[in-house]
Amino acid sequence: MQDCLFCKIVKREIPADIVFEDDQVLAFNDINPQAPTHVLIIPKRHIATLNDLEEADQTLVGRLPVVAAHLARERGFADDGYRVVMNCNDQGGQTVYHIHMHLMGGRRFTWPAG
Ligand code: 5GP
Repeated sequence: MQDCLFCKIVKREIPADIVFEDDQVLAFNDINPQAPTHVLIIPKRHIATLNDLEEADQTLVGRLPVVAAHLARERGFADDGYRVVMNCNDQGGQTVYHIHMHLMGGRRFTWPAG
């Protein structure tokens, strides 16, 4: 996707603080962190919203929480706990239309989310 912000980060056309990468997934620090750790984990392939997922994407999307848990362990807050969030469309709070999992850790979170 030519004008997708996160596709540009994947292609290194705009800078990001990348913390994890494999052949399918990229993770980088959120530019406006809401917690001591706030990482966005994305599939490298452009998928605009959760509504666009197909059956064949299950393995790819399943990789996102696996990477989140890996990063949580690496940063030492896996046992204390953390939050992962995926927002969908306007009312869900989605602002960047390339699916991403927020990994937030290092502080206590409340529920329900705002
Ligand atoms: P959403 O609201 O779509 O669930 O989350 C989008 C996230 O992307 C927000 O937390 C926002 O701070 C982050 N973000 C927006 N633009 C950029 C950017 O250029 N670089 C990085 N690293 N994060 C961004």
